[in-house]
Amino acid sequence: MQIDKYAVFGDPIEQSRSPLIHQTFAKQRNERIDYQKILGQKGNFSASLDDFFADPNAKGCNITSPFKQDALQWVTELSPAAVDAGAINTIIRLDENRFRGETTDGAGLVLDLKHQDFCISNSRILLIGAGGAARGVILPLLEQGAKQITIVNRTKAKAEDLANWFDNSNVLATDFLQMASESSQPYDLIVNCTSASLSGQLPDLSDDVLSKASMVYDMVYLSAPTAFLEHASRLGVVNTSDGLGMLVGQAAHSFNFWRGYMPDIEPVMQQIRSML
Ligand code: NDP
Repeated sequence: MQIDKYAVFGDPIEQSRSPLIHQTFAKQRNERIDYQKILGQKGNFSASLDDFFADPNAKGCNITSPFKQDALQWVTELSPAAVDAGAINTIIRLDENRFRGETTDGAGLVLDLKHQDFCISNSRILLIGAGGAARGVILPLLEQGAKQITIVNRTKAKAEDLANWFDNSNVLATDFLQMASESSQPYDLIVNCTSASLSGQLPDLSDDVLSKASMVYDMVYLSAPTAFLEHASRLGVVNTSDGLGMLVGQAAHSFNFWRGYMPDIEPVMQQIRSML
């Protein structure tokens, strides 16, 4: 019996939980899949994808840092969400020679927020960071009815470029100094889309703005609460979440594209959490 093959490409890749997540999804329906982690070739990433998809049983793959933009060049077609995000994290084999690039990070965040009963519709959201992760969540949040999305970033010009790219009056850029000097209406949700928590650092956001948020989210997930979430809790924010649910949510959307059904994310989240 032929087994469908999948993989995740990145560099580094050893730390990836994707094989475990996807194998666990498949077991929910007693299906067998082959899912490997593969170190991508820097500078020649298309060769990594050529090799993998030379096998007709290779049905799709995930792409992680730093290849999300390289992969976009390789596929034969892109979803509208992938065009907007400017990067892909999922490739779906359509037939022998056609491959669609998708992005599911934003859908993963939306799924996790809904899972936590956060109402995106009509909400005011602050995104800290202007890298690929921030860019990928803007359209999915707007599609769910977010009223306003404000972007703030250490490098202000990048926040402005990102807001301009969306060319939507509900997407704005600001800077940390301006935010601290204004007494703005509280945000419903503040999402840390920076990698600062990986090194235990805090973005420059004022305590006043952070403390008034209804919910605070950090895309990073670690074995303990991130520095950002700990800080928010100390300031009295009750509703905080790390990005583990986003990780499992984006994987669930990839799985759905490949295999045609949405797996249950809750047991997988619990399993991964216990292993962090
Ligand atoms: P990028 O490298 O594209 O962007 C990094 C962003 O972080 C930039 O805005 C950068 O600011 C900012 N930044 C980095 N260090 C600091 C710091 N010390 N203080 C303030 N800002 C900082 O990365 P991505 O956008 O792809 O990813 C960002 C994070 O999100 C990563 O940690 C990644 O692991 C996580 N992520 C989690 C996902 C999940 O499923 N949970 C999915 C996708 C990403 P500047 O422009 O000034 O350099």
